[in-house]
Amino acid sequence: MAQYDYDLFVIGGGSGGVRASRMAAMTGARVALAEESRMGGTCVIRGCIPKKLFVYASQFREDFADAAGFGWTVGETKFDWQTLIANKDKEIARLEGMYTRNVEAAGVKIFADRAVFEGPHEVRLLNEDRVVTAEKILIATGNRPTRELGTTHVIPGGNLCITSNEAFHLDELPKRILIAGGGYIALEFAHIFHGLGSEVSVLYRGEKVLRGFDDDIRDALHESMAKRGLHVATGCEFTKIEKRGDCLHAETNKGDVIECDQIMLAIGRAPNTEMLHVEKAGVELGRRGEVVVDRYSRTSAPNIYAIGDVTDRVQLTPVAIHEAMCFVQTAFHDNPTMADHENIATAVFTLPEIGVVGMSEMKALGTGHHIDVYKSVFRPLKHTLSGREERTTFKLIVDAKTDKVLGCHIFGDHAAEIIQIVGVCLKMGATKAQFDSTIALHPSAAEELVTMRTKSYSKAPA
Ligand code: FAD
Ligand code: NDP
Repeated sequence: MAQYDYDLFVIGGGSGGVRASRMAAMTGARVALAEESRMGGTCVIRGCIPKKLFVYASQFREDFADAAGFGWTVGETKFDWQTLIANKDKEIARLEGMYTRNVEAAGVKIFADRAVFEGPHEVRLLNEDRVVTAEKILIATGNRPTRELGTTHVIPGGNLCITSNEAFHLDELPKRILIAGGGYIALEFAHIFHGLGSEVSVLYRGEKVLRGFDDDIRDALHESMAKRGLHVATGCEFTKIEKRGDCLHAETNKGDVIECDQIMLAIGRAPNTEMLHVEKAGVELGRRGEVVVDRYSRTSAPNIYAIGDVTDRVQLTPVAIHEAMCFVQTAFHDNPTMADHENIATAVFTLPEIGVVGMSEMKALGTGHHIDVYKSVFRPLKHTLSGREERTTFKLIVDAKTDKVLGCHIFGDHAAEIIQIVGVCLKMGATKAQFDSTIALHPSAAEELVTMRTKSYSKAPA
């Protein structure tokens, strides 16, 4: 008789857990997975997918306006929030069903339950109130929106705010919404709500949103948001939030009192390790509550691994999936495989989009590179007729000594689609000369990548 109930027990049925459980089961291992909410996790249920559907919905307003310059007369337009929510929910339910079926088809036993540790090989299922055992355990519990506005004090009224979780299920589209934060979620939702017709203000504690991104892209985004009437208050934080009648009133450190219908906190996310009792299994947590892992996703307990957002490495769906694949290689194929976090292409779905891979100018200089910078800022062809005052930015950071392209930064239409394939080039170690020797595809915006021949400037590390 086997020593344990399962060879692998996965806690969490999100991007990482689903992939790991399926791939491990396909090796013949006996695998179980616990999901306390809905199969698919953040990406499918309350993240990437519903967000992107909202992004599409929000972009029609500008498309309708832009059509006029091309000879179209668009009749009266009207947006119905309830229709969007109902159609989005239907698609998410379909995907959830698909994820469940795929996992089960691979032979994985799914427990619709919350699982917590009882020991290094023991997991308690809370609803069923029983303990199951497994040789290996994978923590893939993801993270959740943080509501802690201050490090030293709790902001009165913080509980009146929504997060991205609730934004997907509001009864009605808010007329006026304040969004706190300057990261991916704050900026994507600011554009979504603005496009759907809300009056939007972003409150950001720093001076420039999207910390860590290239400064040219950050500046271009600030400019574009201002042109669209999307207000960004910088150096700004809440000091108090209260409900007065049907409205919310937010006091800020600048002495303003802003009246609005909803306040959304998008100020980062905290790992789901609370009440998981990892201490019973000897799993070490870091300062922010993240599971500490090595490059093979091994925790401090020899039979326990962790992948995805709960490890607070790079919080992206394809990264969780990559870590899952590496974990299965390491733990089930006797082929220790390190997760590779170099040159991950990423996009922020603003309007227009931001697409980035590799180093920013500041990062390249900070890591000792002498760099050549190629930059092109231009009006996209489409907007010569639409009349929209929009600029596209392309920027390449090149290592002056090796000619290797270190980073690519795009702010413009379809940047997400373009940057994916630039990621392949960077992964292959492409040089600027190789970009230059590639024949352009005309007319496109992406042709800038292979036609920027004149260096904009060079810089040496400080
Ligand atoms: P999750 O997908 O969060 O899965 C963890 C699962 O574990 C959850 O289903 C949870 O219910 C379950 N769980 C937790 N604790 C327990 C327990 N004790 N027992 C049982 N089950 C438990 N990434 C992108 O790449 N592109 C995007 O466009 C993008 N957009 C996003 C938009 C938003 C609004 C958000 C919030 C995130 C977005 N992300 C995006 C990030 C992406 O969703 C995550 O990086 C990804 O889902 C992480 O996968 P995971 O498996 O680590 O965790
Ligand atoms: P981010 O880390 O992107 O942004 C968090 C923002 O909140 C930052 O601007 C940060 O400011 C600010 N902040 C942090 N703490 C406080 C505080 N106490 N008070 C006020 N502001 C604060 O996190 P998000 O929650 O936006 O998104 C989480 C992750 O999910 C992203 O990092 C990304 O990896 C992933 N994601 C990916 C998407 C995509 O691929 N398109 C879309 C959405 C999410 P500061 O910069 O000053 O620290």
